[in-house]
Amino acid sequence: MKISVAGTGYVGLVTAVCLAENGNSVTCVDINEEKVKLLNRGVSPIYEPNLEELMKKNRDKLTFVTDYSEAYKDADVVIIAVGTPERKDGSANLQYINEVAKQIANTVVKDCVVAIKSTVPIGTNDKIEKIIKENLRYNVNIDLVSNPEFLSQGTAVKDTLEATRIVLGVESENAGKIMREVYQNFNIPFVVTNRNSAEMIKYAANDFLALKVSYINEIANLCEIVGANIEDVSKGMGMDPRIGDKFLNAGIGYGGSCFPKDTKALHWLANYNDYEIKTIKATIEVNENQKIKLIKKARKYFTSFNGLNVAVLGLTFKPGTDDLREAPSVTNIPILLEDGAKINVWDPVGMDNFKRAFADEVNYSSSIEEAITNADVCFIFTEWTEIKEFEIEKYAKLMKKPLVIDGRNCYNVEEVKGKELIYESIGRKATIGIKETEKVFV
Ligand code: NAD
Repeated sequence: MKISVAGTGYVGLVTAVCLAENGNSVTCVDINEEKVKLLNRGVSPIYEPNLEELMKKNRDKLTFVTDYSEAYKDADVVIIAVGTPERKDGSANLQYINEVAKQIANTVVKDCVVAIKSTVPIGTNDKIEKIIKENLRYNVNIDLVSNPEFLSQGTAVKDTLEATRIVLGVESENAGKIMREVYQNFNIPFVVTNRNSAEMIKYAANDFLALKVSYINEIANLCEIVGANIEDVSKGMGMDPRIGDKFLNAGIGYGGSCFPKDTKALHWLANYNDYEIKTIKATIEVNENQKIKLIKKARKYFTSFNGLNVAVLGLTFKPGTDDLREAPSVTNIPILLEDGAKINVWDPVGMDNFKRAFADEVNYSSSIEEAITNADVCFIFTEWTEIKEFEIEKYAKLMKKPLVIDGRNCYNVEEVKGKELIYESIGRKATIGIKETEKVFV
């Protein structure tokens, strides 16, 4: 079976590599020449654990090209995994998918299944089928299948090889049969439904996880006010199998390429159909406020950041990825810069991407120690293991004013007690290490 994948981003590349690992030959198409050059040199353009290793291992089964015509012409299956970013009004921008649809229509010379793996609004598969059929150059049959993706960045390879389910939205028996063949070696249960339901499964699942995050963040905010500890609350909740312990870590909100845009897209789609999903509207609002919570906490100690040395630990939207899309660093650092802060950042993998957007507006540190030395305040935006394992005593030793404001609860409050440090976190009372520390801020 000849499989082609359109788009070699987080989803397309991981899908292609995992399909190759399970015995398929896959041709990957991307319009970004730089990416394709890197891929042909065996280098992954994205940071994703185990991806480059598997790419190298399966190099005989993987081809990377910029020219789509050869890739789609005689393919049995084309998997579309291009981006569906957010438009200004919150709706999903389908321009890249539409483009691929026209490229497929213009090229295919034999019957083919087109599977949309990108996250798309309900009804998109029908629209894409129409675009392809209206633009077909040859008299061939095209079957559209919705095949949404559920991987998480940072664990994408594992999530794909050991997925919890493969969702197939099909309108013809033949398309379902061919897609089952594509995934035959994965040993993962299928959920087979119609296309609209498959598209809805993806949004409903993602938005539910985002809702869970916003819910626990609201509970955390109340914990701070009433003197409860969110870590214990989450633990107590998560042990109930009806709730589950995932996505119950309070923090400064969700980011990344999916939750923010997928909540807004479903909210938009509901409004467009004269309906309002109130829980999703609230999820979005809570997240917007949560993102800037650390700066609000810091303002208790400083009226302005002007001239202050600010250390920022963690730039990516979560650990395990170099992706900065909708990361708290990207929201908060411009606010701090505008206020006149001098910023030192550290991140184990995200600094190259950050440099592309912020260039020399901030200083880049090669270690946590370097970033916090002489700092007036330290913000923690991402829960990298290196930060969680960083000795708490060193903040007091190296910072000018030992004020650590942690948006990811990297430290246990018990560890902080007795240390010469002011430690603020989410959903837990501020911990003042020793009395003397308070004098620093008077
Ligand atoms: P991405 O931005 O990382 O990658 C998209 C790629 O498509 C880019 O490399 C781009 O150059 C390429 N591209 C654009 N137009 C093209 C064309 N005409 N032909 C070939 N390539 C083209 O995007 P992503 O994060 O991989 O997400 C892709 C889709 O999957 C989105 O709809 C997203 O919502 C969904 N999704 C993403 C994740 C995730 O964790 N990133 C998880 C599940 C689903």
